Formats: sequence, C-alpha cells, structure tokens
Amino acid sequence: MGPVTTATEAPTMTAQDRCDACGAQAYVRVQLEAGELLFCAHHARRHSEALQKVATDIHDETERLHAEERPTED
Ligand SMILES: [Zn+2]
Repeated sequence: MGPVTTATEAPTMTAQDRCDACGAQAYVRVQLEAGELLFCAHHARRHSEALQKVATDIHDETERLHAEERPTED
C-alpha cells in the first residue's frame, strides 16, 4: 500500500453555496485577492470576461449541471 495522501483540490460546492448575483445554487467559485465570489452557471458565463481579469483562481463545477438533468429557464 502506498502512503496516504491528502486531497488538495478545492472543496466541492454544495447546495448551501449561493450565487452572489441571484441566489441560485452556485457552481463557480471565483477567488480574488480580496476574497471570493460565488456564481451560478448563468452569471459565471455572463461575467466570465470581467472575472478572468481579476480572479486569482476560478473553480468551475458547471459540468455537474449536465449530470443533474435539471432543465433551467433563462
Ligand atoms: Zn446567478
């Protein structure tokens, strides 16, 4: 058996994580020098260009949306 390693990935977002813009479930965590922002897939896409200029890290879990089979209205 190999040595036990600790996962260093960013924690998975949960239903408790809410979009800072609309309050929907967040799927994107944007790390800034001053803190962090959470966005749903919709707002992450809408603000992606601006976010990429200021973010130090972007953790994107929007792929999980496809697995959940939940139709969303836009
Ligand atoms: Zn939103």
